Amino acid sequence: MTTFVSQIECFLKKHHYKAVKPLAALIDMDGTLYDSMRNHSAAWYRMITELGIDATQEEFYMYEGRTGASTINIIFQRTYGRDATPEDIEELYHRKTVYFSELPPVKLMPGAPEMVRVLMESGIKRVLVTGSGQTSLINRINEDFPNAFSPELRVTSRDVSHGKPHPEPFIRAMQLAGVRPSQSIAIENAPLGVKSASDAGAFTIAVTTGPIPREAMIDAGAAVVFSSMEECAENIHLLIYELLTTSLKS
Ligand code: MG
Repeated sequence: MTTFVSQIECFLKKHHYKAVKPLAALIDMDGTLYDSMRNHSAAWYRMITELGIDATQEEFYMYEGRTGASTINIIFQRTYGRDATPEDIEELYHRKTVYFSELPPVKLMPGAPEMVRVLMESGIKRVLVTGSGQTSLINRINEDFPNAFSPELRVTSRDVSHGKPHPEPFIRAMQLAGVRPSQSIAIENAPLGVKSASDAGAFTIAVTTGPIPREAMIDAGAAVVFSSMEECAENIHLLIYELLTTSLKS
């Protein structure tokens, strides 16, 4: 029988919490709610290689969660030994956004609507926490997840000075929801996002929806790893119940 009690106890010891009482779920967008990472990496790859810079499509999965500016600076540092100028960043990120919009429309991640529904039925607040500044997906959220993400409870790349893997986006999300770290769960698909959420103190659920192995999620601080969003949706009710009923005796 599936149970998460040992992972929960391990998390509580590591973070010196007595218990986690989940009041808010801090949820990533790309690769978590939307099956969008293939398109993102293809758009990044096209934009960067057009500059005559060597890159692989796979490397952009490793940068997932970073802001556009941060990804561009990694490439510039590697190629030219310096950061990009603000003008370069604006122009190049715009070009990447255009290439993304030319690709076939992104689909919902299978299992994501069910996962969000369980959170809503459990009375857990939902906060969107994305490193993206691309309005094409952010604006679809209301249609695709009706009533699930209120406009005040969203953290995008425009709201933070340090993007993932820095903990600021998830700390900001906790402040917006009015919860403490020990009252938060996070749902992420990328190691940098997992690190950001875990360092902010959230009980972090990683879902491997792309090519990155589960070990990378554990190393980044994931408390629980699911191999698909469907598996996450099937188990999250039990996981919430076990969080509510598991505590460490001090
Ligand atoms: Mg993601």
